[in-house]
This record gives sequence, C-alpha cells and structure tokens, in this order.
Amino acid sequence: MVAGEPVRVMVWNEYFHERCRPDVQQVYPDGIHAVVLDGLRRKLGSQVEVSAAWLDQPEHGLSVERLERTDVLVWWGHALHEEVKDEVVERVVRRVWHGMGLVALHSAHASKPFRRLMGTSCMLRWREAGERERVWVVAPGHPIVRGLGVEYFELPASEMYGEYFDIPVPDELVTISWFQGGELFRSGCVFYRGRGRIFYFSPGHETYPIYYDAHVQQILANAVLWAATPPGPYTSEARRCEPLEPLEPRG
Ligand code: ZN
Repeated sequence: MVAGEPVRVMVWNEYFHERCRPDVQQVYPDGIHAVVLDGLRRKLGSQVEVSAAWLDQPEHGLSVERLERTDVLVWWGHALHEEVKDEVVERVVRRVWHGMGLVALHSAHASKPFRRLMGTSCMLRWREAGERERVWVVAPGHPIVRGLGVEYFELPASEMYGEYFDIPVPDELVTISWFQGGELFRSGCVFYRGRGRIFYFSPGHETYPIYYDAHVQQILANAVLWAATPPGPYTSEARRCEPLEPLEPRG
C-alpha cells in the first residue's frame, strides 16, 4: 500500500455454488464476489481499486505477482476448501505476514489460509434454519464499525454459527452475534499475524442476501481500509546480528 494511492483489494471466491445451484444463483446471479465488490465500490469509491479472482483460474488467480499487487485479500470459500493448493496457501500466508490484509468471510473460517494463520481447527457449531441474527457491536471505537451508527443490527434470516468456535483468543473482538435459537458467536474477530491484519466476519452464507445489507457493507468497507497495513520493515527470516553496544568481556 502506498500512501495516497487507492487500496488494492482482491475479492477471492470459490465461485462454485453460484454456478451449479439455482437457489444460490437466485441470490447471487453474478457470484458472491460481484456483490461484495459492488458494496466496496459504492462505499469507498476512489479509495479502492477492486478486482476478483476465483478457484478455477490458473494458480487460483493468486499468482506471486498478483498477490504482490494486493493490499487486502477478501476470501470466500465454502465447499471446496481442500482444492486450494498448499503452495498457494503458503504464498497467501507469507503475504499476510509481510503486511497484506485478510478479510475472511463466513465459511472461510474453515479455509486453508485462515486455519493455517490461526493454528487451530477453527470449527464451530452451525444450523441452517434462516433464523434471526442480532449482531452486537462490542468495540464501539474500532475503525471497523466506524459510521455504523447503531449498537446492534439485525439480519432477518441467517445461518447460525455458534460457540464453541475453536480459534485462538482474538486480539480484538469487534462484534458478537446472538441467534434466535439461543446461541452466541464471536462474529467479528481481529487478529494480527506478522505485519498483517486479519478480520474474520461470520455473517454471510450463499442462500441469504446478507452481502446486500447496508450494515454488513459498511463493516466490510471499513475492514478493508483498516486491513491495508501501512508500509514498514518486516522480516520473517532468522538472522545473526551484531550488538548495538559494546559487550563487556566475560569473566
Ligand atoms: Zn453458510
């Protein structure tokens, strides 16, 4: 990311269900990525330069060059996590360590890059019953909820994601969700890995129009700007170094 330049955002989509399931096509006819991108464009205008990539492109659309030119990667995956090549996963992880932001959406909790960055199973309880979700803001000063203007918002039909969610303790917790069936879930979690900033946001799912929701779009737009790490030095290599001050001889 270069100061004053637009944040380069890539929305990565598995892009599978939208091409084979009529119930998903009905909600996201041009793919989930199209709606997420549209929301970012609408909220952020010239502050971002957006593009999309998907699983069945060469190297899943995640070549070294393309990742180098990406400030923030937004990830949607659900059914085909295991088809993402480990070599590409490693490439994404290293880019995050070196400062690329990652916004992991909904079922991306089980994606290879997210699990690799967390180091735990990232599994959770779930139920697909179209129930009400109430998303509570628990970090009102956080840049990710800037301009939201509410203490909570509701999604009339959502997939329940419930605790226990097997993640490391988040560095910051931004939202917690309540579901009509009684469960709670840490739905908006921040993690720092190397120089990279990671935001996991659970509201989503391919058969509910959640990415059209104005509150959700505001949160994703904020998350993208927040996750674009300012440039700075970082190394992930071990190196021997000379002392800065002269050392007293021992003995
Ligand atoms: Zn889902």
